[in-house]
Amino acid sequence: MSNQEKDPAEIPCTPGDSEAPLEVLSPRDVPFGGLRAMTVRRTLPQRKRSFIGAWCFLDHYGPDRVANTGGMNVAAHPHIGLQTVSWLFTGEIEHRDSAGHHAYVRPGELNLMTGGKGISHSERSTPDTDVLHGAQLWLALPKEHRNSPPNFEHYAPDVLVGHGWMARVFLGSLLGDTSPVKTFTPLVGAEITLEAGVHLEVPLDPLFEHGILVDEGTAVLTATAGRQVVETAELAYLPLGLESLKLQARGAPARLLLLGGTPLDEKIIMWWNFMATTHEEIVQARADWQAQIASVGVPDPAGSQKSGSKPDSARYGLPDGEPELPIPAPPLPNTRLLPRD
Ligand code: MN
Repeated sequence: MSNQEKDPAEIPCTPGDSEAPLEVLSPRDVPFGGLRAMTVRRTLPQRKRSFIGAWCFLDHYGPDRVANTGGMNVAAHPHIGLQTVSWLFTGEIEHRDSAGHHAYVRPGELNLMTGGKGISHSERSTPDTDVLHGAQLWLALPKEHRNSPPNFEHYAPDVLVGHGWMARVFLGSLLGDTSPVKTFTPLVGAEITLEAGVHLEVPLDPLFEHGILVDEGTAVLTATAGRQVVETAELAYLPLGLESLKLQARGAPARLLLLGGTPLDEKIIMWWNFMATTHEEIVQARADWQAQIASVGVPDPAGSQKSGSKPDSARYGLPDGEPELPIPAPPLPNTRLLPRD
């Protein structure tokens, strides 16, 4: 998915306090553009917290009737320095990327795209989709892998079933299951559903910090770091050092995403759909994308913004078979930010 903010700020992503008590992060609504278009609920990044492990961006959307919102229709746009995870609860999305992948994103299946040194892709909900409901997550690549070759992987995890609960472990290890998908830093990602009133004790890796996004229902989290009631669409943060977490669905069934990883001890700049170490890399990535799409007749909405070296019009490539023109980058902000100390 593309960050659809009209005038995105350059966001410095910095390591957070990994020893804070259990805390709850509330989402902010970001309109996806258009008159009746879908709105996403963004819980990461926030001013007080940029990362949970390498997880650095969390947009949660739906359930929305596509008849009302128009669904997802995101033409080709670029990414660098990150991986995207598309996770659906309901609906179907068609994915095409410039590395030659054409795939359908379906509920309960991992679709992991590596932007690395540069990729472009499009995402559209399919005509058969009545209700769209899911999450778009980004993983920051650590510095030594930030320029990895672009890639796309698909994995359908087994459904783990216990007394009143189910889980799908799509990245890393949890509850006795391990995803075979390689990650660039140690991390975990899983969907857990709980019947009303059910308690589930989840062993955690104490070297990880964790986040719990509540997709449906109300979850009560209990750990040595504290106890928190987490409502639908909120993201709870759990610090390092926890051996286990007790989850309970309060009153009604609950569905949640459990995310975690070793803290990423790096300063990274996020702007639009790019993650990089320096402002200059962001400027270059934007110039390269504009040079790429100039070749199919898309003008730069900012006129020509200067970049350090000659733009590379073949850095990203474009997906095949696109019905629409690619999305131009917003103008760069006038103010320049450096990673915070
Ligand atoms: Mn995207």
